Amino acid sequence: MIAENIAAIRARMDAAARKAGRDPKEIVLCAATKMNDTARVREAIAAGITCCGENRVQELTAKQALRAYDGASVHFIGHLQTNKVRQVVGRVALIQSVDRPALLAALEKEAAKQAIVQDILLEVNIGAEESKSGYAPEEIDAVAASMGQFPHLRLRGLMAIPPVSEKSGSNCRFFTQIRRIAVDITAKKYHNISMEILSMGMTDDFEDAIACGSTMIRVGTAIFGARDYSK
Ligand SMILES: *Cc1c(COP(=O)(O)O)cnc(C)c1O
Repeated sequence: MIAENIAAIRARMDAAARKAGRDPKEIVLCAATKMNDTARVREAIAAGITCCGENRVQELTAKQALRAYDGASVHFIGHLQTNKVRQVVGRVALIQSVDRPALLAALEKEAAKQAIVQDILLEVNIGAEESKSGYAPEEIDAVAASMGQFPHLRLRGLMAIPPVSEKSGSNCRFFTQIRRIAVDITAKKYHNISMEILSMGMTDDFEDAIACGSTMIRVGTAIFGARDYSK
């Protein structure tokens, strides 16, 4: 089932990329593995998944102890408390959800302590939703400009979770806005950053995201089925 789902998503990704005149190889499929156990994560990796995203520190740590992600890289994609950075820095390839100045400072401090450089994305609250974290779109430029002050962090792009997509096409304006921010920042050639990763698009809107410049989609439900929140 998981392998079939992944194959179907890849076919849809390829079609969306070609329609937009893009090379399908430019777009990474990151499996949002939250609430799926080690056996299911391994099944996804066996079916070709190269990137897994987790949004809870405790779940990440537990599954890492079980070597659930062997053969794939792991990204952190959830809200990260500053008192938990030690469990994430140096243990994931990319922290996608850097959403506030206090977290940026805590990550720099921990990465310096470990003497490593941690790759990060800035999370943009693109729909200006109260319920979501992330920088406001107009704040991103200043943060990117300041990255020289964080020598143990490397900014590689942006992540966004727009509002729930009501109908096909409804989130395109948000995805396009993220892409514009990235293009503007790239043109400024700030120190210590790149905008190569635009992580946007989930189960309900990944084709629109690909049409509008996404380079990484984060998909859970379409791979694993609906999550069981009753457990
Ligand atoms: C769960 C999750 C996803 C995947 O959502 P689906 O709608 O199930 O594809 C993507 N991004 C983040 C940050 C998530 O927490």
